[in-house]
Amino acid sequence: MISVSSVSKRYGGFAALDEVSVEVESGSLTALLGPSGSGKSTLLRVIAGLEVPDEGTVVLEDRDVTRLAPQRRGIGFVFQHYAAFKHMTVRDNVAFGLKVRKRPKAEIAAKVDELLGVVGLAGYQGRHPSQLSGGQRQRMALARALAVEPKVLLLDEPFGALDANVRAELRAWLRRLHDEVHVTTVLVTHDQEEAMELADRIVVLNGGRVEQAGAPRELYDVPANPFVMGFLGPVA
Ligand code: ATP
Ligand code: MG
Repeated sequence: MISVSSVSKRYGGFAALDEVSVEVESGSLTALLGPSGSGKSTLLRVIAGLEVPDEGTVVLEDRDVTRLAPQRRGIGFVFQHYAAFKHMTVRDNVAFGLKVRKRPKAEIAAKVDELLGVVGLAGYQGRHPSQLSGGQRQRMALARALAVEPKVLLLDEPFGALDANVRAELRAWLRRLHDEVHVTTVLVTHDQEEAMELADRIVVLNGGRVEQAGAPRELYDVPANPFVMGFLGPVA
């Protein structure tokens, strides 16, 4: 469980997050949904530990991590613009975090095989990232994030740079993966369709504040205010 309580984050006099409280259940897939500049990435970065809030706390599984370094939080992170090691093969990219942790060679090999199978890249181990499609690179990035068995997976518009067909395919695939692995996942998106289709729970952000949080159907059927209705309602 991730508990974000009354978190504010200011840049100069501007509040990117204004007393934001969010609860993410263990094993769930939660979407942070909102327009550009609403604070989605800032909130994700606060959960990851890449930003320290000015006020409020972040608790991960009963541990206050508000001021804990990112690498000690047990979190995997995938950004919109995936950072692949271009000079390394797919296999070595996915193995990277395990090598850093000095896991035994046989264990690394088995884990990488398993994960590349899960993300549908079993036949691509020896390729370099430049020899993959955009969707395949995103799946590699997810395999790399999952390799170290994070307690929490944070995805900031992981499919944002891809075309609509590939996005739809990856979305379905991520949902299946999540049903299999059950890692607590927070996904940032400004795409209401993506949030509705993928998430167990949606948190709608606007101007650094939470407008509403709930199951997709709940937000759709009973929007708390005109903003949520406009953002989630039937597309004209
Ligand atoms: P997008 O959908 O465009 O990625 P977002 O919801 O992720 O938007 P954030 O990146 O969280 O938005 O930014 C929220 C607000 O905080 C924006 O107005 C942004 O300009 C501001 N902001 C974010 N990071 C900084 C920073 N390092 N310095 C100053 N302002 C910042
Ligand atoms: Mg963002």
